[in-house]
Amino acid sequence: MSEPAPARVPIEPGYFTIPEGPGQAPRLLGSRCAACAEVFFPRRVVCAKCLHRGTEDVELGPRGTLHTWTYCHIPLFGKLDAEVPGYGVGQIDLPEGPRVQSVLSGARDELRMGMELELDLEVLRTDAEGREVVIYRFRPLTPAEAGR
Ligand SMILES: [Zn+2]
Repeated sequence: MSEPAPARVPIEPGYFTIPEGPGQAPRLLGSRCAACAEVFFPRRVVCAKCLHRGTEDVELGPRGTLHTWTYCHIPLFGKLDAEVPGYGVGQIDLPEGPRVQSVLSGARDELRMGMELELDLEVLRTDAEGREVVIYRFRPLTPAEAGR
């Protein structure tokens, strides 16, 4: 009998969903303006486009297109080592409209402007209650996913 998977909690609530089961993708949590339908990430109460007060919560992605990116060699949460020499940071255009900035997974030579990426979760650490504390990032699609 296998151990149940540890519970996962976001590093900060309100930014992304954590799937309950396998095969489900996490989603970013955004807002859609009730008046002009502009979509935002992260969530907001007042529309930045028309200043209407009143938005509805929407789930975004999970896929987007890499608008631009760079590669960093300074530690992120102290995790750089010989195996992980750096990490990408990019701006991703979501199909709903927002352009979001995110850490990217994948090697430097895998990243290309215009490529499709998918939201993914990474375990940062385990907290005092044994739960996995997760962050979001975007990753390149696998060849199988890209062919779908
Ligand atoms: Zn609006």
